[in-house]
Amino acid sequence: MADSTIQLHQVESRLYRLAVDLLATVHDTSGFAATMSAFTDLAENLAGHRPVACKLGCSHCCVLNVSVLLPEAVAIAGWLSMHCVAAACDAQLKRLQSHALRVRWMEDSERIHKQILCPFIDARGGCSIYPVRPLVCRSVTSLDKEACLETLNPDQTEAVQAVQMDTTRKTIMDTAFCTLARAMKQQPMMGRSIELSNGVVAFLADPGLAAVLASGADLPASLWD
Ligand code: SF4
Repeated sequence: MADSTIQLHQVESRLYRLAVDLLATVHDTSGFAATMSAFTDLAENLAGHRPVACKLGCSHCCVLNVSVLLPEAVAIAGWLSMHCVAAACDAQLKRLQSHALRVRWMEDSERIHKQILCPFIDARGGCSIYPVRPLVCRSVTSLDKEACLETLNPDQTEAVQAVQMDTTRKTIMDTAFCTLARAMKQQPMMGRSIELSNGVVAFLADPGLAAVLASGADLPASLWD
């Protein structure tokens, strides 16, 4: 117990130092993208990889609401801008806007019941933004596919057992999320989280918001209304 406490403290310290150093040099979308790339690389290295039941094409958990920190939303919007052509970009923005409006204020239970999948699921059932996927998504794994199916069954009405997951990965990714939020406030920048599609839409529709965030000014409160 004492050892794991010390190790987690060291993990948090390494992530925090990196985030503070990187965020200090950020001025725009590319700066946030580089920050998130280096930060998630470190978090992934610290989390490591152990066998899990998750496989490409199994997207059962991608009906859960995902919160991202603002640099994550900027990095995803920047990545999408680089990976689509003009007409497809417009269609994607409209699809994301529609999804953001639909899931606003919706609880996980309602999304499970209605099976409202994440708008980033691709035709193979994979994550179309996998290289830049959110920390929250990186934290979730399953050691038991049947338990996932039961827990996320839209027809289940009774409380079910929690799904067993890789708890080391979950702890480190949760720590990375909280540490990044703390580093944001240190800069100072807004450390608020936002629903995934809503945040990505904001930075896709107005790329200038990334510079506003980097400057330390508050983003419009209407993003969270
Ligand atoms: S961003 Fe990717 S991993 Fe996360 S919920 Fe959406 S499709 Fe699933």
